[in-house]
Amino acid sequence: MKSKPPHRSLNCLDFFVNDSTTSKLCHLEAQACCFVVILSGYCQLTRGDSRERSNSCARVGCSSQSQLRYCNVKMRCVVAITIVIAFLQHGMGYTQERRYVEGSNMNLGEALQFLREYDREASGMCFRVTSSQWNYSTNITETNKRRMLEEQALSAKFHRLSWRRATSYTWTRLPDPIVRRQLHMLAIEGRAALPEEKFNELQQLISDMKEIYSRARTCPHSINSINYNYRQSGSCDLALEPDLTRIMSHSRDYEELLHVWRAWRDAVGPPIRSKYIRYIQLANHAARLNGFHDAGQQQREGYEDSDINTQLTELWTNLAPLYRELHAYVRHRLVERYGPERIRPDGPLPAHLLGNMWAQNWRSLADLVLPFPAKPTVDVSSEMLRQGYTPLRMFHLAEEFFTSLGLKPMPPEFWRHSMLEKPLDREVACRASAWDFCNHKDYRIKQCTTVSMDDLLTIHHEMAHIQYYLQYADQPLLFRDGANPGFHEAVGDAITLSVSNPRHLLGIGLLNNVTDDYESGINFLLLMALEKVAYLPFAYIVDQWRWGLFAGDWNIDEMNARWWELRLRHQGVIPPIPRTEKDFDPASKYHIPADMPYTRYFVSLVLQFQLHQALCEAAGHFGPLHTCNIYRSREAGRLLGDILSLGSSRPWPEVIRIMTRGRTDKLDAWPLLEYFKPLTMWLNVQNRDESMVGWSTTGEDTALFARWSQDGGYAVVPSVLITFLAVVFALS
Ligand SMILES: [Zn+2]
Repeated sequence: MKSKPPHRSLNCLDFFVNDSTTSKLCHLEAQACCFVVILSGYCQLTRGDSRERSNSCARVGCSSQSQLRYCNVKMRCVVAITIVIAFLQHGMGYTQERRYVEGSNMNLGEALQFLREYDREASGMCFRVTSSQWNYSTNITETNKRRMLEEQALSAKFHRLSWRRATSYTWTRLPDPIVRRQLHMLAIEGRAALPEEKFNELQQLISDMKEIYSRARTCPHSINSINYNYRQSGSCDLALEPDLTRIMSHSRDYEELLHVWRAWRDAVGPPIRSKYIRYIQLANHAARLNGFHDAGQQQREGYEDSDINTQLTELWTNLAPLYRELHAYVRHRLVERYGPERIRPDGPLPAHLLGNMWAQNWRSLADLVLPFPAKPTVDVSSEMLRQGYTPLRMFHLAEEFFTSLGLKPMPPEFWRHSMLEKPLDREVACRASAWDFCNHKDYRIKQCTTVSMDDLLTIHHEMAHIQYYLQYADQPLLFRDGANPGFHEAVGDAITLSVSNPRHLLGIGLLNNVTDDYESGINFLLLMALEKVAYLPFAYIVDQWRWGLFAGDWNIDEMNARWWELRLRHQGVIPPIPRTEKDFDPASKYHIPADMPYTRYFVSLVLQFQLHQALCEAAGHFGPLHTCNIYRSREAGRLLGDILSLGSSRPWPEVIRIMTRGRTDKLDAWPLLEYFKPLTMWLNVQNRDESMVGWSTTGEDTALFARWSQDGGYAVVPSVLITFLAVVFALS
C-alpha cells in the first residue's frame, strides 16, 4: 500500500521557534518570512550564506513569538507566506499527489488471462531483444546493430500496447494483490502514454545523445605524455575508454589532468545541452500523462515509497561525517602533492585531481594517500599468474564460492554460450555484464577477462547477478527483478566484500599468509573507503539534480550552476576552471544522456553493507565486520537464497525485514559506518590538526560556476523575486 506524503507545516511562526527544520520547503519559507520582516524595516540583513542569514534573521528579529508580535508583521507574514507557498507548490512540484491511469474493466478473470498472455509474449519478446543485443555486443557490425534496433523498435511497440491493455483495468481496485502488483508495474512504466510521434521523438533524442557521448573524441595534452599511447602523432582520437580514464587515474600532472577534464566536457556538454532540454519536456509530458507530477516522481515510484527522497537525505546526513573525514585526509595529502596555491587547505577540492573523470572513485590515488606504504597490500594477481590461472578457471573458482553456500551452480548453457575472454577475430563491447535471456535456461556473462585480482572480483560480482536470475526464475516475468532498483548491484557487491577479504584469499590458496596487524587493516579499509565512501555523495547528487530539474525547482538557464552547487555542497569539489551555462557538465556522465536512473547506486552502497552484515550474522561471524567472510556458510547461503528468490514479488521493505530477521524494514546507514569504524577512529586522529574537517566555501568558489554569486547568496535569488512580488501584494 502507498503511504501518503507527510503533512508539511506551512506556518512560518513555527519555523522561527524551531530552526532545526532542514527541509527545503521550510528553508524557502524562512527566506520568505525573513524578507517580509526585513522589508518591513524591523530586521537587518546580515551577511553570510543563505542558511546563516535565515538563522541570523531568526536570531535578531524573530526568535520568539513575542518578538514577532513586536515586529507587528505577523499577519502580513502569514499572508505573504501563503501566497509564496501557493506559488512554490504550483510551480515547483512539491505537490506529490498522483493519479494512476486506469480504465473501467473490473473483471478479475480477464485481468488474470491478460497477465498470462503478457507473460508468454513478453518473455518471447525479451528473448528476441536480448539475443539481438548480445549478438551486437559480442560482434559489433552494422548488420548486427540494425537487427538490434529493429528488435528494440518492435519491443517498444509491444510495451506501448501492453501499457494500453493494462490500464484498461480498474486495477487499483481489483481484489487479488498479486494481479494488482503486476498491473501496477505495467501501468507506471515507461513513456508508453505519449502519442506515437512524441514517443518516437523522445526515443530518437536519447539515442542521439548516447551517440554523441560514445563518439566523442579529444586531443591529447602533449604527444610526449607517458600516459598517451598515441596512434598517430597529434591526432585527436582519445576516447573516454580507455584513454581518458587511464590518464585521469595515472597522471599526476596538474595541467594534463586539467586538459583532459576540460576536453571531455567540451566534447560532450554543449552538443548534448539543447537535446537534453527537449528531453526534459518530453519525459515530463509522458510522466504527466501517466498520472505523475513529473518524470522524477515517476522514477521514484520504482521505490514504492512516496517519501523515498526523505530516506535518502537522512542516509546521506548520517554518512556525510565519515565522508568529510576522508575528504580532509585526502586533501591534506593532495596539498602536499600539488601545493597550497592550487588547493586551499580548508577548502573544497579541484574536481580533476581525484583520479577519476567525475571524482567518484578515488582508488587510483592509493599511491598518494596509502597510510602505511611499507605494508604489503592485498593483490593476488601475480600469485594467480604463478599458479597458472586462466579466465575459465577463475569462473570455476567463483562458481565454487556460490555452491559452497549451498546456492545454485551455473547451468550448462552458461558455460556453452558465455563470452569469458576477448575474442581476437572481431570487435566486441568489453564492459563486463550478466545476461538473463528470459527463457529459464539461458544465462550468460560477457567479460574480456584477464588474469588479475580485479577481474576475479568482477567475476564474482557478475555471477551474483546470474545467481539472482536463477533464484527468481520461477516468478512471473514482471517479478523477475531486484526487490528495488538497488538490490541487484548490492548483492554483487556484498559478495565481493567477502571475496576481497584477505582471510578468504588465504583460504582458497591465493595468499600465503595474512598480515593481521593493525596497520594492514587500516590500509585495507582506506582502499575500500576510496572506492565506497568517496562514491557516496556523487551517487546521491546525480538524481537530486535530475529530479530538481524535472520538478522545475530551477530553470534551464541555471542547469550547470545547480549541478555545481550540489557538487560543492555535498561532495566538496569545485571545477578547476570557471564554468558557464554554455557548458553542460552533467552530460559528462553517461547516465544523464542515456536516461538511466542513478539513485540505485546510492541505495546499493548502503544496502550492500546491510546485506553483508546480515549474512555475516547468519554465518555466526564474530569480530570486526570488515574481517567477515561468508564462504562455506550454509546458513548465510540459505538467507541469501530466501532474499533472492522473492525477486520483486514483494515490496522491498518486506524483503529487508526478512534480511534483518525482523529488526528493520528500512535502509540503514549503520552497517556501513560499523564496517569503517576502525578507519573512522584512525581518521579522527589523523585529522586532529586540520583547520577544518569538511570544507569552507568562499565567494570565489561559487563564482566559478554561478554568475550571480558574488556574496555567496546565489541560493536565495530565485525565491527573492517571488517573495518580493508576494510581499508587495501582502503589504498593499
Ligand atoms: Zn553489476
